[in-house]
Amino acid sequence: MFRKLTRFIINPFRIVTTCLLFRNIRMLYMLPSFTDKVERCPVCEAAGVHEFTNRYTPLDRCTDCGHVYSRKAPKKRIMQLVYKGYGYWKRDKGHQGIDKVEYSPQWDAFLQDRLNIATKTGVLNGKKGLKIFEIGCSEGMLLHELKKLGHQAEGCDMNAATAQEGMKTLAVKIHTEMFEDLPLKEDHYDAVLSFHTVEHLPSPDSVLKKIAQTLKSDGAVLIEVPCGPDEYTNTDHLQFFCTESLRRFIGNRFEEVQIFDNTYTTQSGAVMGSLYGCGRCPKG
Ligand SMILES: [Zn+2]
Repeated sequence: MFRKLTRFIINPFRIVTTCLLFRNIRMLYMLPSFTDKVERCPVCEAAGVHEFTNRYTPLDRCTDCGHVYSRKAPKKRIMQLVYKGYGYWKRDKGHQGIDKVEYSPQWDAFLQDRLNIATKTGVLNGKKGLKIFEIGCSEGMLLHELKKLGHQAEGCDMNAATAQEGMKTLAVKIHTEMFEDLPLKEDHYDAVLSFHTVEHLPSPDSVLKKIAQTLKSDGAVLIEVPCGPDEYTNTDHLQFFCTESLRRFIGNRFEEVQIFDNTYTTQSGAVMGSLYGCGRCPKG
């Protein structure tokens, strides 16, 4: 009884303090010493025009490729604070009806959706034993699924708490350093996947450059991002791709690019869904 009471008191306290902490950390985006100013479009380097201001930062729209991006990019140590802790995972997965790192109908639907995208783009081409790396793999459920399908899969996620939960529960390999900092073999992977991660990155091109280096000459990258102006209020996101900017972004580093538009408009006029793109044959 005493334990139950203590748990009741402690849990709401933890939830409230975590929420406050998250809000306060994002408020750091307003302080110049915790952010870098982004002067040029991260996709094509053209200048931008002011488009919108989310809760903390102004967003610019590129006059050339249409990409929308935050004019302030948080420094690495601030990013690490924002994504720290298992609470972030719970918030992110909670709205999808997922609350544990174990198989459930909700997880099945989530994983099947990602496998369908990888199959549709030809990244999973029916061959077994592909060497696959996932950037922003979170707890590693997709890595686990890919291993079950006969592939060699590993990934990275800067949220060490989530990664450790996955490594413990699923016995998958997850690096907790940022992708740019990992000593990965060049010309090694058949595929690099990244679902709903690139929009969080302050310098997406440095990540794509490294992806191109780590892939084999016939390797493929698969990137899925959310899209539409209704995303602008999301302070987690620094990059807001449209079809053209995702095509240009992948095309900067890959010879062959395919873009798939997975968006739809709701009755109230909101654009929902995602865009995903596949790049093949990295430029040397
Ligand atoms: Zn641009």
